[in-house]
Amino acid sequence: MIYIHIPFCKQRCVYCGFYSTAANSVSESYIDAVCTELKLRSDYLTNKEIQTIYLGGGTPSLLTIEQLTRIQNTLTELFDLSKLKEVTLECNPEQLTEQHLNNLKNTNFINRLSIGVQSFDNDDLKLLNRRHSCTDAINATKNAQKAGFDNITLDLIYGIPGLTNNRWIENLNIIANLNIQHLSCYALTVEDGTMLKTLIDKGMILPTDEDQALQHYESLIKWCNNNNFSQYEISNFCREGYEAIHNSRYWDNTHYLGIGAAAHSYNGTSRQWNISDLKTYIQSINSNLVPATIETLSVEDRFNEYLMTALRTKRGLETGYINKLSVDLWQTTEPKLSTYINKGLMVPTPKGYRLNHDGMLLADAIAAELFI
Ligand code: SF4
Repeated sequence: MIYIHIPFCKQRCVYCGFYSTAANSVSESYIDAVCTELKLRSDYLTNKEIQTIYLGGGTPSLLTIEQLTRIQNTLTELFDLSKLKEVTLECNPEQLTEQHLNNLKNTNFINRLSIGVQSFDNDDLKLLNRRHSCTDAINATKNAQKAGFDNITLDLIYGIPGLTNNRWIENLNIIANLNIQHLSCYALTVEDGTMLKTLIDKGMILPTDEDQALQHYESLIKWCNNNNFSQYEISNFCREGYEAIHNSRYWDNTHYLGIGAAAHSYNGTSRQWNISDLKTYIQSINSNLVPATIETLSVEDRFNEYLMTALRTKRGLETGYINKLSVDLWQTTEPKLSTYINKGLMVPTPKGYRLNHDGMLLADAIAAELFI
């Protein structure tokens, strides 16, 4: 699978810790570099048959159709795309005009849209420094459906300071009328170095409230149960048959090639990440050098990463996978799991163990306790 990072945003959202640059468009020199990096690294994955591609950001919906087509043509030249199942484009609602959506559909390339709605409440959107309104978000989703997109996911954020539980449920109820296939909901986190952190520290925005975020999460789970969205990961919910293929593979240890500034790659034994600096990235690629830091992963690193991601999923830990990694690690870990079963946090599955609802609330802490 291939991830392509498009690190350009028209303006910075206050909570954002991702690498991106404020710009009105994606520079041609960046697209040149992305296409060159694809060529330089076309042998990174041992299997050239690509099943999923994800264009993330930043704001990939700032790509023009010509830029997108150049990337598509380069991919087609270098890889076997005959078994391609899912190509996702992350989008901001304000860029999804009817015309642009029709053009996107006509590329016959993008088949899944991930729309960064974050909230349907204009006050929340203003607080987060998003550029769109509630109406923009609704229109973008409906226009995408009109253009023929039938695999749409929306991103929402809960735990926003001042967001009451009733207003959060109103957000969810808007979704009930939008007939989408997938939903990702994340608790607002306050990361160091973000504008949100500064504003909270200066007392200009209320701090986030963990109890309120937990109440929002409980309401979300109840709402999803009542509205036919099944939870397959802590933050991800879908209609039957619409699990995100690309993202699910990050959780099951599939190798991936990450292209672009700040993109990460994984080949089973090492992880590498490109420099988070646009200018240096472009200059380096133009000299045929990939500006990446490489970390070789020990069996313990891979085990810990697996714990961290697998415990967040409905599939849970698979005994077979851990045994393949190291029989010793499994023999050390399995007896510890009975503690969580006895506490009513974990249940057996046909292939291993998974956290139940109460356990999911403590997933990160449980993973940390099990780390080697
Ligand atoms: S649009 Fe996305 S990547 Fe860009 S600043 Fe906002 S949250 Fe960050």
